[in-house]
Amino acid sequence: MQKMPVLFIGHGSPMNAIEKNDFSAGWKKIAQAIPKPNSILCISAHWMAEGTAVTGMEKPKTIHDFYGFPPKLYEQQYPAKGSPELAAKVKKLVKKEKVSLDSEWGLDHGTWSVLIQMYPKADIPVVQLSLNAYLSPEKHYQIGTELASLRKEGVLIIGSGNIVHNLMVMSPGAPPYAWAVEFDKFAKEKLEAKDSSSLINYSKEPSSRMAVPTNEHYLPLLYAMGASEGEKPRFFCEGFVYASLSMRCVAWGL
Ligand code: ZN
Repeated sequence: MQKMPVLFIGHGSPMNAIEKNDFSAGWKKIAQAIPKPNSILCISAHWMAEGTAVTGMEKPKTIHDFYGFPPKLYEQQYPAKGSPELAAKVKKLVKKEKVSLDSEWGLDHGTWSVLIQMYPKADIPVVQLSLNAYLSPEKHYQIGTELASLRKEGVLIIGSGNIVHNLMVMSPGAPPYAWAVEFDKFAKEKLEAKDSSSLINYSKEPSSRMAVPTNEHYLPLLYAMGASEGEKPRFFCEGFVYASLSMRCVAWGL
């Protein structure tokens, strides 16, 4: 079996699920450029929990975890199956933290808004792993390293978040803030240098105060980086929206 790449996707607005734009086009393109996975493990910014959990159900529901969007977005369903088998493997592989099997969650928009563009047929089983709100960035990164061996088994690991994400100061149509550009550049350079330590200790960067006011959208990057096994990153989307979100997407192992 071919070793699968690892992806980090800057997902941005839930509308990217149904819009044709440079970002959704980039996601479609990357899906076509990589081998078809036999299952997908997604670490989404939108499942922050009081522990590390993995979805264990056969049929995960599509969660519409956003407000004030057009009806068309709420009508979207992503009927991919779950994979209790992959969930069990994840539970076994992660040794540094206790992983519980979840039967309540499903697929939040950090996962399905991206996958509906990448794999519109929804014919690949999908499992989500939660972000434990109590763990340090280092611990999140370590869980990523423990997941790396899944790649040899045909599992596509996707971290879904945004490297820069500040909804409090969004300014549609405006050019990106200086701190957004600065932090995105910092992340790009450290990714290129395979400098996981600087990325784990991102809060030492002054620009992180505005770029990463809360870290749920940043942490999925650390999982993907952890699973990348020191491979060279390739950036397949970049740019800013609303002046305060970076849409940078990263692939390793391509
Ligand atoms: Zn989000």
